[in-house]
Parts: sequence; structure tokens; C-alpha cells
Amino acid sequence: MSVGRVRLSVASLPAYRPGKSADQAEQEHGIGDAIKLASNENPYPPAPSVIEAVMGAVSGVNRYPDHLAVELRNAIAAWLGVTSEQVTVGCGSVGLLRQICMAYLDPGDEVVFPWLSFEAYPIAVQTMGAESVAVPLVNHRFDMDAVAAAVTERTKMVLLATPNNPTGTAVSSAAIATLVERIDDDVLVVVDEAYRELADPALGDPVTDLLPHHNNVVVFRTFSKAYGLAGLRSGYAIADPEVIVNLDKLLLPFTNNQLGQVAALAAIGAGDEIRPTLDLLIGERSRVVAALTESGWQLPDAQANFVYLPTGERTSEIYLRLEEQGVVTRPFPGEGIRVTIGSPSENDRFLRALTGVR
Ligand SMILES: *Cc1c(COP(=O)(O)O)cnc(C)c1O
Repeated sequence: MSVGRVRLSVASLPAYRPGKSADQAEQEHGIGDAIKLASNENPYPPAPSVIEAVMGAVSGVNRYPDHLAVELRNAIAAWLGVTSEQVTVGCGSVGLLRQICMAYLDPGDEVVFPWLSFEAYPIAVQTMGAESVAVPLVNHRFDMDAVAAAVTERTKMVLLATPNNPTGTAVSSAAIATLVERIDDDVLVVVDEAYRELADPALGDPVTDLLPHHNNVVVFRTFSKAYGLAGLRSGYAIADPEVIVNLDKLLLPFTNNQLGQVAALAAIGAGDEIRPTLDLLIGERSRVVAALTESGWQLPDAQANFVYLPTGERTSEIYLRLEEQGVVTRPFPGEGIRVTIGSPSENDRFLRALTGVR
């Protein structure tokens, strides 16, 4: 007998699996000194001015935060050159993903996305009783023709993670524009740019390239990855004001926590202070890609803060051999292994551990 009468679509959901922690791996294998390269976290703390702002705000947490995070919205709008009505803030971009699914999906509706992609997508879709339409990658990249062809009258939304998690490949705003022009304009096209700051700027900017021409384009961004604020949960969306109003109706009260708002504001205020960290991560990514390529790996283009090893059938075996050596990565069984770019010494450890495996 089960307790209560859980919704069918929830009962059949898999439990969310966050990346394994270093502590957990140490306990399981009886080792010390494990490192976690499993959750695409920034290995470095936020800018000093951001830390200072957060510390200064801690004593005020007896008060509820501003539910709508108005000051932060205004700052994001000014930063990006859009209006405040085009911006909303959520509990990370995954919070916004939940809100947009709640706002737009009825049971039986379809959501199209390339696959492999972000593991949160099918969960958010299924939660609403809607159906995921997964479009296979070709050579670890999006097949944008196939994505367009998969859109039917039942499609409410297309989800595009660029750079894609876990393969790291990206699509240009020009390629997204072509897709948008091929499908009905009442289908929302969500461009999830969690890793935007690490990608090649030549790919374009959906906010300036697409939003002025297509009111069905929604852009998700976050302070979690490049800005090193994953623990404070500040994500944001830029979209048509009508979409923003609907997302705001479903914002969990006060979920934009006070420290997250303060940190995001300070991160915007810090401007280029983040640049050296980004340059370091991008430089390390190039170094890791070069080392892997030299030892014979054929990798998809890496545009985010991780690399993707197409290990296929050997995925579980290679993942385990790395973990036994204290390097915790993220496996996608039967497909590949995603390895986050860490500090230079962590990246060296990963490269050394992998050499022994192959
Ligand atoms: C990490 C990640 C997110 C989550 O970002 P939060 O703002 O921390 O919720 C969203 N989308 C993709 C594709 C990601 O990889």
C-alpha cells in the first residue's frame, strides 16, 4: 500500500541524482583526497566584492526578501539593454524551467529537445503530464533540421541548451533564428544559456539577435556557473513581457533568497572582475582538450566549463576506474562521461587518472 495517492506522472519519475560528492566517493572506495568534477561548478569562489556584499547582508536574513527581486531585475535589464518588463529572476534557471513548464504545459502537450541534453528537461516536462520528444544528436551536436521537423501542432515548447550539457557543443543565434523561422510562432523556443560566458562570442547573442524579432524566444541565464554562485540560486530569464507575467505568477513566494539577490547584484556591479577567472577556465579547457586529443580522444567541441568523453559502451567501466582513483565525474551510461574543468592541479589529476585507464 502506498501512502496517499501520488500523481501517476510523479510516481513514474526517476529520483533526481545530483553529482556524487568527493566525500561519498572517498567512503565508497576507502580512499582520501578525492576531487569532484561532476557538477560543472566553478572551482573558484566568487569575486571578493561579491563575497563582501553577501557577508554584509547575512545579518538581515530575519526579513523576507523582495519576492519579485525588483532591484535585481532592474539591474539585469540595464546590464543587458532590455526593459525590466522583459526580465524575471528565479531560483536558479532550473526554477524558471519549472515555472515555464507549469505555465505552458497541459497533459498531452509535447516539448521538443535534442537528446542528450540537460537531465532536468524530461523531468520538468513529465511532471506536468506532458510528453518529451527527444531528437537524437548527430556527432554529439544538435541536428537543427530534425528539431524543426519534430515540431507538430501538439508542440508547445522547444528547449535548446547552448552550450549543451553534457556534450558541450553550441549552436549560433543564426542557427536558432533559422529554426524559429521554420516553426509556428506560438511555439516557445527556450534558449538555455547556463554556460554562455564561457562560449565563443562569435556564436552571437540571442537577446540582441533574436528577441527583438521573435516574441516567442525565451532566454535563460544564470549566476551559478561562470559567476561561481551555484550555492545561492540566482537564475534569470529574458523574454516578452507577456511571458514574464506568466512566469511571475508561478514564482514560489520568496524563492529568490536575499543572499542570492545581493550576490547577483554585486556580481553585476563587479563587472570585469570575473574576467581573469573566466580566462583561466577557458585556458584550462583548451589545455585539457589538447592533452586528450593528443592521446587519441576525439572530442566534441567544448564550449562550456567541461569536456565530454564519448566512451560509449565503456562508460561505466571508465567512470569507475576514474572514481577509484579519486576523480569523480558524471557518467551517462552507454553514452559518455562529462568532466568539469577544475583548477589546474585537479585537471592534471584527471588527465593522469585517465591515462592509466585507457
Ligand atoms: C547547470 C545548468 C543549469 C542550472 O543552472 P541553475 O541556475 O543553477 O539552476 C541550467 N541549464 C543547464 C543546461 C545547466 O547545465
